[in-house]
Amino acid sequence: MPAENRFDMVVIGSGPAGEKAAAQAAYFGKRVAIVDRSPSPGGADVRNAEIPSKTLRETALYITGFRRREVYGLGLTLDPEATVAQLRARTAQVIETMTDAVRRNLERHAIEFIRGSARLSSDGTVHVTSDAGHERALQGDVVLVATGSRPFRPPSIPFDDADVHDSETVLDIDRPFASLVVVGAGAVGCEYASIFTALGVKVTLVDSGERILSFLDAEISQLLGEVFTRMGMRLLLGGGKAAVRRDDNGLICTLADGEEIRPAKVLFASGRVGNTEGLGLEEAGVQVDARNRIVVDEKFRTTAESIYAAGDVIGPPALASVSMEQGRVAACYALGIPFKDTVDPMPPFGIYSVPEAAMVGLTEEDASARGIDYEVGRGWFAGNTRATIAGAEEGLVKLVFRAEDRKLLGVHVLGDHAAELVHQGQAVLNYGGTIDYFIHSTFNVPTESEAYKYAAYDGLQRLQARRGLTRELTA
Ligand SMILES: Cc1cc2nc3c(=O)[nH]c(=O)nc-3n(C[C@H](O)[C@H](O)[C@H](O)COP(=O)(O)OP(=O)(O)OC[C@H]3O[C@@H](n4cnc5c(N)ncnc54)[C@H](O)[C@@H]3O)c2cc1C
Repeated sequence: MPAENRFDMVVIGSGPAGEKAAAQAAYFGKRVAIVDRSPSPGGADVRNAEIPSKTLRETALYITGFRRREVYGLGLTLDPEATVAQLRARTAQVIETMTDAVRRNLERHAIEFIRGSARLSSDGTVHVTSDAGHERALQGDVVLVATGSRPFRPPSIPFDDADVHDSETVLDIDRPFASLVVVGAGAVGCEYASIFTALGVKVTLVDSGERILSFLDAEISQLLGEVFTRMGMRLLLGGGKAAVRRDDNGLICTLADGEEIRPAKVLFASGRVGNTEGLGLEEAGVQVDARNRIVVDEKFRTTAESIYAAGDVIGPPALASVSMEQGRVAACYALGIPFKDTVDPMPPFGIYSVPEAAMVGLTEEDASARGIDYEVGRGWFAGNTRATIAGAEEGLVKLVFRAEDRKLLGVHVLGDHAAELVHQGQAVLNYGGTIDYFIHSTFNVPTESEAYKYAAYDGLQRLQARRGLTRELTA
């Protein structure tokens, strides 16, 4: 094989897992190629997942002045056509900027970006076929499969209908519409349901489960559901699976109890499947599980020698944040780089709904299930100066901690900047700290971060109350 086709590592997929793995390896002087069937690097993450959905959110909140305009008594009349045009233009702009950032990162690290579909052969060679049908065979000492995932499309949902969308095609909507049924109250469903509600669309959020975002602390999930309802969203939970069809009068979404809703559009946002088809995994000896996810060990090794996998293609949590870390760690193991050998076992989760929710560590339910004698403390934004000034008083910081020694176990935030705020709690948690940290630290005032302090005081007060002491501790 010609030298130009030989690499220390060949990465398949240029999403967060592939890009960061490639950069990590190249940083340590390795010769790396990254293959992607998309014309531009960045993965689903940049094209149609994390980055566009978050851009849509920010743009929607900005141009509608959502929940801020009331603070200043402002009226606002939006031109629906212009709003859609602005949303699309801004999203396209950010996608372009972030794609460029990935491209420059690859260039800076002298990583060769090879456009085409990759397929493995039994000896681990990566065959790349371009759109024009040209083939190039690449040999890597190691191969990393980071081909990501795509939305799950159950056959019962008519995705060939122009008004039935998944999380990718929802970004193609180019006309205003009045009503939407979102099927699936996970992160993607809740994010889009609340963004479209903020935009003035009549949204019904349907899920067969009893609560939205079932992995969150139950109280946070309950409170977020209440905020959604106050925003005007209709929540239909625990009602079984929804069916979607069209008749002469338009779309019909039938719920398990027989109720029929006639929305202008449906967004199906429930589940993702790994991109494993056509990769030659079986031929190469790479085992997948029943859900078509690549099986890896703790070093991200697949069942085939010298072939590693990371990111969404290996399954949950299917987050860009975790995929990046998996990619870096996988590259270190694959190439024997003694730099990074574990992925944070306690990653934070950020839900970019309106308002945001975020968590790290144990929920109250987790603590209870583990038989831990725990207590909680709550710092509400309703009493927080910065949040009051900003007109963002909904939500709280909730701490879950061990009663015996006040060791922090979990942090849960609901509110405008939850995904940012959670990191302070994460730092204390990761360093094994107690809620005393928040009691003794001085916080800038006014800040939303101050809610941590009052959550800790509230927790102390609860502990005192439990112990039958009456001394008032709040400052
Ligand atoms: C709507 C939405 C919002 C999200 N928001 C967030 C968020 O806020 N925060 C967060 O952390 N995560 C978020 N995620 C999850 C995040 O997008 C994924 O976890 C992340 O994209 C996974 O990265 P990856 O590198 O594994 O794969 P991907 O980003 O899916 O990239 C895989 C790449 O592999 C390429 N590929 C596939 N097969 C082949 C082949 N045979 N040959 C060549 N190339 C191939 C694809 O073209 C693609 O470019 C969101 C997801 C969705 C759907």
